Amino acid sequence: MENKKIDDKLYSVKFCPDFETHLKPDMNACKACKSKVCTIICPASVYEWVATKNELVVKYENCLECGACRIACEKKKLEWKYPKGNKGATFKNG
Ligand code: SF4
Repeated sequence: MENKKIDDKLYSVKFCPDFETHLKPDMNACKACKSKVCTIICPASVYEWVATKNELVVKYENCLECGACRIACEKKKLEWKYPKGNKGATFKNG
């Protein structure tokens, strides 16, 4: 079996972003969160904590829909749903 790197695998993912986010963290909970685990666990680097603005930036367009952030959120204050219709990520074999 061929051993591919993550960048090679992500090359086979197509994105069709929606106009609105499907990831809605409760920003007040994010400010109180000590671990900011979403910024670590997400394989697509969707979440970035901007300390100078005291805010979480969510680049939902890059989401792989793996669900890791939903499980990991220590405050359980992330509203998570799949993108609508044919929006979001599409995975191909190869
Ligand atoms: Fe990142 Fe997965 Fe959460 Fe999408 S579902 S934001 S890829 S951890």
